Amino acid sequence: MSIEGDALAMVVDRLLHDERMRPLLDTILGGFEQPTGLVDQIDAAQGDATRFLDRLGPAEQVGLAPAWVRMAAVKALTNWAIGDVRVCVHRPHPDRPEPVYAAVSVPGVITCQRCMNLLLFSVDLRHCDQCQETTTRLCLTGMMQISALTLLFLVCHACAAKLQQDEKPDGKPPAE
Ligand SMILES: [Zn+2]
Ligand SMILES: [Zn+2]
Repeated sequence: MSIEGDALAMVVDRLLHDERMRPLLDTILGGFEQPTGLVDQIDAAQGDATRFLDRLGPAEQVGLAPAWVRMAAVKALTNWAIGDVRVCVHRPHPDRPEPVYAAVSVPGVITCQRCMNLLLFSVDLRHCDQCQETTTRLCLTGMMQISALTLLFLVCHACAAKLQQDEKPDGKPPAE
């Protein structure tokens, strides 16, 4: 990652972990522009991503997106914006918005919709993105979407259980 990318990520990290910064972060995340015409494409991308997760076979899916996943998604988006990523041969670029894909376990890579299989082949279904352990059981798969970016992640069953526990009984994510 470039120094510029590191600095951005540090700012975003601060935003994610300092409660006083939360309203500002919400404003920033809510402010990613979704150009006219892209919204339908993004909806379609979400459907494609769900089918993509389905294609991972017997892996169960997790419906939660913890803070480190949000951080990874923002990082991928900012690095894509400043050109500090490797992209697929179709060279998706923020100036020509289209649905793009990334995976936590394949950092620094962004692909277009046609090339998301490249990510699939690179992902180890037994490696947990949260505790970094390699497990005997298949991990649970999840995804998070920010603007045009869909980020794929995996968590082991122990981490998934912890995430579920951390959620308040009313179903709201825990305050950080
Ligand atoms: Zn491509
Ligand atoms: Zn884990």
